[in-house]
Amino acid sequence: MARKKAVVITGGAGFLGSHLCDRFIQEGMKVVCVDNLITGNMNNILHLQKNKDFRFIKHDVSKELRFPDKVDFVLHFASPASPVDYLKHPIPTLKVGALGTHNTLGLAKLKKARYLIASTSEVYGDPLEHPQKETYWGNVNPIGPRGVYDEAKRFAEAITMAYRRYHNVDTRILRIFNTYGPRMRINDGRVVPNFIYQAFHNKAITVYGNGKQTRSFCYYSDLIEGITRLLFSDNEGPVNIGNPDEFTILEFAKLVIKISESKSTICFEPLPTDDPKQRKPDIALAKKLLKWEPKVKLQQGLEETIQWFKENI
Ligand code: NAD
Ligand code: UDP
Repeated sequence: MARKKAVVITGGAGFLGSHLCDRFIQEGMKVVCVDNLITGNMNNILHLQKNKDFRFIKHDVSKELRFPDKVDFVLHFASPASPVDYLKHPIPTLKVGALGTHNTLGLAKLKKARYLIASTSEVYGDPLEHPQKETYWGNVNPIGPRGVYDEAKRFAEAITMAYRRYHNVDTRILRIFNTYGPRMRINDGRVVPNFIYQAFHNKAITVYGNGKQTRSFCYYSDLIEGITRLLFSDNEGPVNIGNPDEFTILEFAKLVIKISESKSTICFEPLPTDDPKQRKPDIALAKKLLKWEPKVKLQQGLEETIQWFKENI
């Protein structure tokens, strides 16, 4: 019988990482989930614990990573991802983007494994080009509070390319735009769980700034499909994966109130420093190279997410 392929997923107890663990178990692979639980949650992977093809290792990937078995794929998803989380953990965020990426690339090189890094639309910063194409170099403030995340991810992309060019590691760079869905932490501070929590409790919805800033929200199932296609394709990236349907945050707040049939009002709070004014992926490359585009409309994805939160909090 052919040996099962093995994949190491860092950040596998987080929101996206845990859905990736599920996906690769379904694909018939052996999954090793490495997570230090700084923003993750064991509940996200409890259902996998008894599966003989699943293994959880509690470890900080900013420290050396040793692994005796064969590894075919390394997916580096470990990093705080919510602005509230990375402002609370600035140094661990810089370390996991820099040292964590170095260590996981080292693992991929040693094992001759294919490597995929979870980069982000934040590499475009507060973009001056709209929508954002992969060719855009970005507008990032390196010394602002968000710099700890943005610059760590930009470094992560740079070191990934260096390992590709100088060590011939087979790499993939994925730039993820705002993604939401079941298993987000209700208190992670991102706009989707924040508004859902507030709407549940009929509390005022906290729109930062005047709410005219835009985001484009991708449902997790569409993203997981895009990641899988990039991993198994011959394209190195960077490739944007996200949903190009763009909404102002004020429109988004009203939609959450409507879908959750809430009595919440809207209040306005100060805009965080360097909060990007607009964000929308250009996904022409993903369509062309991966034959991928999102299928789930915001209304449907939000209904499913709200239902999940109702059942789980
Ligand atoms: P998350 O916070 O739910 O998951 C991150 C996981 O990484 C957590 O389980 C956390 O404990 C783990 N982690 C962090 N530092 C670690 C370390 N040093 N060692 C081991 N584990 C560590 O966030 P998420 O939304 O699932 O994001 C996952 C990845 O996707 C991140 O790299 C993030 O930058 C990227 N991303 C996410 C989005 C999004 O909209 N969700 C957008 C762009 C990029
Ligand atoms: N936001 C908001 N109210 C909140 C949380 C976030 O208005 O309670 C805004 C935030 O200022 C940003 C957008 O929603 O403009 C998305 O924020 P999020 O933290 O989800 O992630 P970002 O896209 O900024 O990384």
